[in-house]
Amino acid sequence: MLGYSSLAEMSCSINAKDVYVNKEKRKHIISVLDKRGHINAIESKWVTKNKRYIYVRETAHKTVDDEGNVIYVGTIENITREKKAELKLLQIAIELRNLMNNANIPIIGIDKHKKISEWNTAAQDLFAYKKVDVAGKDFSKLLAPKTEIEKLDKIIQAAFNGNEINNYKCTLKTHLNKYLKTLLNVTVKYDYYGNIKGIMVIVHDISEIEEYRTTLEKKVTERTNKLKLALEREKELGKLKTRFIAMASHEFRTPLAAINFAAGFLKKYDSKLDAEQKNKKFQKIETQVKHMTKLLESILHIEKNEQNQEFAKPQMIRFKDFIEPIIQEACEQTNYSHKVELSIDKIDDMIYIDTEKGYTIFLNLLINAIKYSPNENTVYVNCYCKNNETIVEIKDLGMGINPKDIELIYDKFHRGTNVETIQGTGLGLSIVKSGVNLHNANISVKSKLGEGSTFTLRFPLNNLPVLMSKPDRDK
Ligand code: ADP
Repeated sequence: MLGYSSLAEMSCSINAKDVYVNKEKRKHIISVLDKRGHINAIESKWVTKNKRYIYVRETAHKTVDDEGNVIYVGTIENITREKKAELKLLQIAIELRNLMNNANIPIIGIDKHKKISEWNTAAQDLFAYKKVDVAGKDFSKLLAPKTEIEKLDKIIQAAFNGNEINNYKCTLKTHLNKYLKTLLNVTVKYDYYGNIKGIMVIVHDISEIEEYRTTLEKKVTERTNKLKLALEREKELGKLKTRFIAMASHEFRTPLAAINFAAGFLKKYDSKLDAEQKNKKFQKIETQVKHMTKLLESILHIEKNEQNQEFAKPQMIRFKDFIEPIIQEACEQTNYSHKVELSIDKIDDMIYIDTEKGYTIFLNLLINAIKYSPNENTVYVNCYCKNNETIVEIKDLGMGINPKDIELIYDKFHRGTNVETIQGTGLGLSIVKSGVNLHNANISVKSKLGEGSTFTLRFPLNNLPVLMSKPDRDK
């Protein structure tokens, strides 16, 4: 083992202490041996005759020979291989510890008593606790918000039962009370005998990614909604175009044909017609032109509304003063075919309304009531004030509205299925509805086919500066 070929040669080296690498340690060993009378499994480093280092384990005791001389008797065992393996392991352990300490991901060790035993620099940076502050503390209680402690304890217990935990999502709290969204990965540590001696928790701080994901999701939803709206609007416009073309081709063709016919007639029979006959034809042309102008005005009105250019400037006005000129106009426009019966609860009942827009609203409703009751001769306007509202009912006993049309009558260009023979554009009620909305008012209808319709309008009666803002045009 030591490379000496003879005892004499070896004794010589031993006596000269050449075999001991650490002479101080040797002195200590001898003193222990002298004092206690024995040494047991002491490890030391020796040098062989060929100047190689070896590790030995010594066991010796002190005794006296027959002549009374003190002698040391013992054994040495070459443990160089064992020792080298041990040193290597030690080195690996140190390297691992350094690696863990310097890793840029927080790693936390928890011992078998479930207390924090390891805490690397990244953990210190993330949670703003120093190792001395956390050593021996309960992991969950220290880092989890109150509501999460129990759940986290269960996870830790699961790890102590030998389960690896992967990507457990939880919220943790720093020393500065900042809440972090994290993913925990937990591995189990075993001792030499295979018993669980602790766990290692690796913390991934995903707060930033989570925030980014949430904002991204929010943005995507917003964009999708906007696109959906745009698509809906596009579809709606498409429908409107189709309806407009259908209406225009019908509504323009008849007056144009009438104008064409009257003009041709005048041209052809100019010399044969007397003044009255000519006048009749001119009047016909004039009426049809008026009708077309009205039609165009309605379309322009809608277009203006679409662009949100409308505001209501309401004023308080006696209902009687407001409605009478409108009734007069409605009768004139319908050639006095019907009587309009006006009933007002109290003579001084007021309405808070933009008189210009109100004119359009009530004129449209009155003309409709007259137009759609061809076999009747009276329509009714009834007004009263209740609960700080002016309530106006416009009632006719005419043809009524088909229940399947009721929902659609305020849509642009929609015409009832039972009114084909009566002239119209399907725009009037859409204009009425947007006018009503501008006043924060309300319109509803009750109708029965063949029995008539009643439109009820409720205008708020207050002096608030109504509608300084732009109205919600889709109401
Ligand atoms: P138009 O009268 O030009 O067709 P409106 O928008 O004013 O357009 O009315 C839409 C539809 O509502 C009408 O085509 C008709 O079917 C129905 N309507 C409106 N008012 C009445 C009413 N008083 N009686 C019966 N139907 C009505």
